[in-house]
Amino acid sequence: MERLCTLENEIKELRQKLKEKEDEMSKIRRELFGAQGDFRAWIPGQDQLETSFTDAGTVQCGTLPKWAIERYSRQILLKDIGVHGQMKICQAKVLIVGAGGLGCPSAMYLAAAGVGEIGIIDYDVVEITNIHRQVLHFEQDENVSKAESAASTLRSINSRIKVTPYNLQLDSKNAMDIASQYDVILDCTDNVPTRYMLSDLSCFIKKPLISGSALKMEGQLTIYGYRSESHKDDKGSSYQGPCYRCVFPTPPSPDVVGSCSAHGVAGPVPGVIGILQAMEALKIILDMSPDKLLVERMLIFDAEDMTTRTVRLRKRNPSCATCSDNPTVTQLVDYEAYCSAPANDKKKHEARLRTERRIEEKIKRMTGQSYFGFRTHKEGTQKKWIQDVQKSERRLGPSCNSDFCARSNRRYCKKLTDMDRMEIFQKFWKLEWVEKKNYVRSLIDLVPVKRRRICLKNVQCRKVDSKVYNLFFNSEKVEVCRVTFLNTLGIKEAMVRCWLAQKPMKKTVKNRFKSQNLIDYIDKLPIIDSKCPICLDSGSSVKYVDLNVKNQFHLYKIYVNDTLSKNLKPASRKTFSKVLSVKNLRIFKPKNERDVCDLVQEHNDSRNYNFNDDFYHNDLSLKILPQENRITASQVFELMGKGSPLVIDVRAGPEYQMCHVLNTDNRPIDGLRGSNLDQLVGQVEESRDPVIFICRRGNDSQIAAKLVLDRLPEVHRSKVKDMTGGLHAWAAQVDNNFPVY
Ligand SMILES: [Zn+2]
Ligand SMILES: [Zn+2]
Ligand SMILES: [Zn+2]
Repeated sequence: MERLCTLENEIKELRQKLKEKEDEMSKIRRELFGAQGDFRAWIPGQDQLETSFTDAGTVQCGTLPKWAIERYSRQILLKDIGVHGQMKICQAKVLIVGAGGLGCPSAMYLAAAGVGEIGIIDYDVVEITNIHRQVLHFEQDENVSKAESAASTLRSINSRIKVTPYNLQLDSKNAMDIASQYDVILDCTDNVPTRYMLSDLSCFIKKPLISGSALKMEGQLTIYGYRSESHKDDKGSSYQGPCYRCVFPTPPSPDVVGSCSAHGVAGPVPGVIGILQAMEALKIILDMSPDKLLVERMLIFDAEDMTTRTVRLRKRNPSCATCSDNPTVTQLVDYEAYCSAPANDKKKHEARLRTERRIEEKIKRMTGQSYFGFRTHKEGTQKKWIQDVQKSERRLGPSCNSDFCARSNRRYCKKLTDMDRMEIFQKFWKLEWVEKKNYVRSLIDLVPVKRRRICLKNVQCRKVDSKVYNLFFNSEKVEVCRVTFLNTLGIKEAMVRCWLAQKPMKKTVKNRFKSQNLIDYIDKLPIIDSKCPICLDSGSSVKYVDLNVKNQFHLYKIYVNDTLSKNLKPASRKTFSKVLSVKNLRIFKPKNERDVCDLVQEHNDSRNYNFNDDFYHNDLSLKILPQENRITASQVFELMGKGSPLVIDVRAGPEYQMCHVLNTDNRPIDGLRGSNLDQLVGQVEESRDPVIFICRRGNDSQIAAKLVLDRLPEVHRSKVKDMTGGLHAWAAQVDNNFPVY
């Protein structure tokens, strides 16, 4: 135990020392390399040296330096990114508002992808309750500023980017200055006032806002304020998506907006949404077309049953308060007041405590216990409600001492003993609140005014109906005076007046079996078993609805019509979809025994292979190329030095642009068929020098070489060479500066 303590202390000291050293280092760095401090940050165009031809002279790397190609190669390979896209990413500036559950994962992926500049804003410090979802902060970061903690982790993920922490709360005063330095804003705060502010901000500075939210097991994601000069809408003007105000013109009531601290959240849910925010940010940076982005659409992720849906959002409102041509809101306002909710978790927490207390006191009041009531307090022009007026518990009051009651035959005042009255009092306060109201209402008879006197000016006099008060005694209604009535029940006259003015509440019974008719309906649908060979092989029990419907919505409409015609209330579209998925029912049935289902078809399409897997693997395992058609990288280098052999790089276009050996030709293997292939074969026949095929690892080049060999007459075949080991071998044997990706 003692040893443990000493170790813990030592670790603490070492951490302190490490921090001091790091501070010292960054100070020296700042002195050496100017105010930016982060001398390693690299932005394309700043260092032309690295991008020019390297010493060996065999490599052309497009415009990216070698380290960037190696570092980002896995994403440069994508046709949607490529060298050009990576350049854009390296030049992009992204502002992340909130270093919490959403901000951490998105910042992480954006930093890893090489986004040139990341700004991260958070006013809060790391608490141990944050760590389960805010993955940029570690245990030792407790009580450290979240912005600083996030920035330091981001720097250790990618030292080539610039990270700027802002340890402040974004508000109407500072937001403009900070945000205008960035290209894309990520709203990772998940509170309504900030969302309105960021949306307005994004309209003013014309930068898109990627807005995520996560609560309990559900997450949402969409893009607001998107506009694109390069993509036109139907009318030919530049495309513009809705802003937050277009979709939600008025703020929701503060009570319906939940918070993670009050309702909880499963860590991976903001993780998923945050990462998707990063994906959308990259897509915006890459200038992908609006129909591919989450513009005018909202993605809803439900972790409970692992479903995602995208719902259509409203289109941009042409008379929107901020993003229309004639906006009524032209500068940032006080959003906390606008939404009557605090934009700050701390304040939210206090507000929640107040709400909890209010409810607690309310329950005490309703059960007759002592409680704290409200008073108003004026502070300048603002009126505040303070709950600190102590009210005593409900007690049985004295019976009346009126002579009239004593003499009256009708009134029971004197006949009720204090014991009787105590019994009535206790029974009354055991009732539910609504029952109390109904009880009081049932015991007061209203006697209408017999004759209303018409006063001067023809106005009726204000005399109201007189009340006759009764109490329940020995299961009989007995008349008492007002004083006895109120004192026996322990209530005040104002309460009675108020209750009488209200309309009696009806108890509502929720229909819990609404979806039962849906389940019955679906069970009665004609159903056939799956014939999809792949599904059957995998042992899944998918079944198909044997109806001629276009899609699920079509089926839903039929269901709604059928249900309405039976005078029943149909279940919602979401429930409908859920029941179908629980029953493992699909809409599209395979046409014949060999046909695969839509799921498998989609999967195959998405892989988009020009060569099917079997062909690919057979080729590799057969090693079809004889030794005379193989050549090593250093031999290729020698040949290129002596003459001018035709060197054909069969990688995809973007890969070739990323980096390639000088004096080579690019013929992507995907295009090697039909006339392209014929032309290449002709070229090989005419060539006097060898024709060398190269690719990244030496697999695709074999396939390409084989395609050509199969069409060549015997005499020309020895000319065809495949470079063994591909460009990896080239980097190892010939040019160490060639990027290995
Ligand atoms: Zn708008
Ligand atoms: Zn009385
Ligand atoms: Zn299938």
